[in-house]
Amino acid sequence: MAEVRTRFSPSPTGSLHLGGTRTALFNWLFARHHGGVFILRIEDTDRERSEERYVREIEESLKWLGLTWDEGPFFQSERLPLYREYIQRLLDKGMAYYCDCDPADLEVRRKEALARGDKPKYDGRCRERGLKAGPHSAVRFKTAQDGATRWHDRGKGPISFDNRELDDLVIQRADGIPTYNFAVVVDDITMGVTHVIRGEDHIPNTPRQILIYQALGAALPEFAHMTVTLAKDGGKLSKRRGAIPILAYRDRGYLPQALVNYMVRLGWAHGDQEIFSREELIKYFSLEHMSKSPGVYDEEKLLWLNSHYIKETPLPELARLLLPFLEGLGFKAPDLDYVARVAGTLNTRSKTLVEMADAARFYFADPRPYEEKGARKFLAPENAPRVEEIKKRLEAMADFSEEALNQLFQDLTSETGLKMVQLAQPVRLALTGKTVSPGLFDIISILGKEEVLKRLNLVLDFIYKKQ
Ligand code: GLU
Repeated sequence: MAEVRTRFSPSPTGSLHLGGTRTALFNWLFARHHGGVFILRIEDTDRERSEERYVREIEESLKWLGLTWDEGPFFQSERLPLYREYIQRLLDKGMAYYCDCDPADLEVRRKEALARGDKPKYDGRCRERGLKAGPHSAVRFKTAQDGATRWHDRGKGPISFDNRELDDLVIQRADGIPTYNFAVVVDDITMGVTHVIRGEDHIPNTPRQILIYQALGAALPEFAHMTVTLAKDGGKLSKRRGAIPILAYRDRGYLPQALVNYMVRLGWAHGDQEIFSREELIKYFSLEHMSKSPGVYDEEKLLWLNSHYIKETPLPELARLLLPFLEGLGFKAPDLDYVARVAGTLNTRSKTLVEMADAARFYFADPRPYEEKGARKFLAPENAPRVEEIKKRLEAMADFSEEALNQLFQDLTSETGLKMVQLAQPVRLALTGKTVSPGLFDIISILGKEEVLKRLNLVLDFIYKKQ
């Protein structure tokens, strides 16, 4: 196969959501699978609705997910002379024509056609008028009026459109700006795009685009249309059901690899494998295994994948990801090493980084007030001598290794005849404020002697005050 070149071509008129991002992902994966090129193109010809901040957000979203592009970003707004040149080619070939129909008249005619029960398509009034360029003239494409336009869709199989369904679409508006269907074809031709992978909502545009390719004498790319993603009840995704900006997933504590893995499975399968490393995705990805039925958004599955990746991520990397969430809670970490040790005690218990940061509070701040029920049970007067004894022994310890701490508590259980929980829970409350936490020895070792002794003193004050 010649070099594979794919593109992602969002319009910067809003945030990138799951659907658009999955399009980017599939194009990226297909390009990487074939050792090809992935292009980023910003379709910003709608000047009124396009915004610079969305361009930045699109770039940031792709970078966060690791979907790096090899060429671009190209901006359609900077390519207007090129589109004009291609418009001129079609005009010269007699395959396009000027049209000065007034938009208000067009609307009236459209309504009349509908009332007659006809298709509301352009009636071809200016087709043979031989108009020259004028200040209020659009350019229309002379669409074939019979026959059919067919292609073999790599996602959907054979598709055919009756050309009579299509009308002479405007390819350049009266203000000189090309329309989507035309600009996209010129871009895909001049950028050498070999595979157009996009959402199935673009299927009705494809026959129009194919006819423009043919009129320009250009070779067709392969088309692959992907299924949409629906909510569980079969409805469209909404704000509360998945339709949030991709960066909101980052802010909610999802890991990029979890989201990538999640998105790919919304429209593609490799047997019944659910978890894929990036390398595996690149190796296995193929258009033939894109799903035929819509993906269903399932937040529980995303959370499950996220917990998996939280567990799998090497601690230094996890620490780097967790740090902004800790900072968001107003905590300052002494260094990344400390955060990595903290993360190592929470990575099997947190579904998101938000949850993890929340569970890490006691590593960075005073754990008080103590959980009420636990305090009633484990911070009663009879606990004071036990805590005093543990404090004394910890004070004398030089090494806070797991073995040494284990030994300390083992000795105490055999000397006092008390159960481990009776000894450990008061300490746990002192250090974390709670009765449930990661392993106590890990916590003691991470907090370090000075902090542990300080917290034991505080808990002793608390117990004595109750007497
Ligand atoms: N700009 C189009 C969109 O955002 C993409 C067009 C295409 O992929 O051909 O839907």
